[in-house]
Amino acid sequence: MAVPRAAKAGGKPAPAGQAAGMPVVSSESLLALKRRARRINRALAEKYPYAHAELDFTNPFELLVATVLSAQTTDVTVNQITPLLFARYPDARAMAEADPATLEEIIKPTGFFRAKSRNLLALATRLVDDYDGVVPGRIEDLVTLPGVGRKTANVVLGNAFGIPGITVDTHFGRLARRFGWTQSEDPVQIEADVAELFEPRDWTMLSHRVVFHGRRVCHSRKPACGACPVANWCPSYGLGETDPAKAAKLLKYELAPGSEALLAELLANTERAAEIRMASRKRTL
Ligand code: SF4
Repeated sequence: MAVPRAAKAGGKPAPAGQAAGMPVVSSESLLALKRRARRINRALAEKYPYAHAELDFTNPFELLVATVLSAQTTDVTVNQITPLLFARYPDARAMAEADPATLEEIIKPTGFFRAKSRNLLALATRLVDDYDGVVPGRIEDLVTLPGVGRKTANVVLGNAFGIPGITVDTHFGRLARRFGWTQSEDPVQIEADVAELFEPRDWTMLSHRVVFHGRRVCHSRKPACGACPVANWCPSYGLGETDPAKAAKLLKYELAPGSEALLAELLANTERAAEIRMASRKRTL
């Protein structure tokens, strides 16, 4: 892996003004990069002890389908339609026999519904034909299924099978570059670069924490650097708002101003975070 040019030793935030999305230049050994990366992971773990997969599921099949549906849309939208979808088609056999028009109607809110419907029907049929209707637990098999790439495969492995996986979605890729963990735009290369910095046992939770951070603090266009828990170790500090009061207003979800009660509830009940998130979303619908 090419060692990214990253933060200066000592963990001081680098000055603003670098090219968008890229860390400030300075040589950093692989060892120093690993130490800094792991420090960031520990800080994210302290900030988001309640981080978890934000797609709702009860078994590998549901997670696989929900992850396929999450392409080009939000987890919130997917979570709104999956209760009806899985009530109608609880397993691969039922989905393989679905009427395409009915399936399309149910998944329509997630966008690209015709292509997604075709993928789900083909996916369910392959599961029935080649895996006796059971979702396989190996990445080599998962990536051969219709509509399933490495990102989806790693989500399913990490969260439904407990097999470590790094999930490179748009948030993870952006933050990995901002952290100086990679310089690549290619998800497979990003996964390989980041895998070198962490032990496999950390991969799944690291993925959740980084995505949580990307959704709440380190946004694509307006990162809230002045309210960021990893600012001291981030070479891209200064890319966004650095004034603490202004940055705090950019925070989202449970970190947003006015969401203190939800945050306190999540921190007090980390193991029930998914349940609390679902209940809070229902309250706001
Ligand atoms: S919000 Fe945090 S992680 Fe994102 S660029 Fe700013 S300091 Fe770095």
